Amino acid sequence: MASVLVVEDDQFVRSALIRHLTEASHTVRSVGTALEALREVAHFRFDVVILDLGLPDLDGAEALKMLRGITDVPVIIATARDDEAEIVRLLNDGADDYLTKPFSVEHLSARMAAVLRRSRAAGEAPPSRVIQVGGLSIDPLRRQAELDGDRLDLTRREFDLLAFLAGRPGVVVPRKELLAEVWQQSYGDDQTIDVHLSWLRRKLGETAARPRYLHTLRGVGVKLEPPNGHRP
Ligand code: CA
Repeated sequence: MASVLVVEDDQFVRSALIRHLTEASHTVRSVGTALEALREVAHFRFDVVILDLGLPDLDGAEALKMLRGITDVPVIIATARDDEAEIVRLLNDGADDYLTKPFSVEHLSARMAAVLRRSRAAGEAPPSRVIQVGGLSIDPLRRQAELDGDRLDLTRREFDLLAFLAGRPGVVVPRKELLAEVWQQSYGDDQTIDVHLSWLRRKLGETAARPRYLHTLRGVGVKLEPPNGHRP
């Protein structure tokens, strides 16, 4: 049960969302513009915001930035655009997850549950131990990661993925376990993991063909270990 803000200008989609979320015993408020959404989050506390990207007053990316300026409430982007570059940008700008329209109620519920579990878990005392693997340094408490002394600009999901793998260096983690532990889903497609791994690789300055830290073992899983010759 969560308190949800639905930001959606399409009356039909909006009513359907409100009905489904209410049936799932969530508390729902809804608005049709980005400016109203900003007013809502300034006045009420929400557990999650579902943000349509095609709003009449502000570009979705702009709306997200302004939201992030005043709140760290989890935001799930609902987008009709299946544009990877755009989605990457939004995840970098602070979106927690995204759904491509049309999406099913089950899909929305699963994403919401995962986002809520993550934000609730983050509210509990996280481990304070700084993880060091080769030139990688990961501080779970501050949610900061550095590579050879340079701060990495990671999305939440990228950070979670990196921290999880770095917490068990040299261990091959099966994809199923990554989905369960990082995405907190018991199902899902490998593509989700692959896409996030490739973004993470890019930020670590490596590629799947020339891995340094992140190694994919086809059909088995993923492991993180210090590059050859790196002294601990
Ligand atoms: Ca719209």
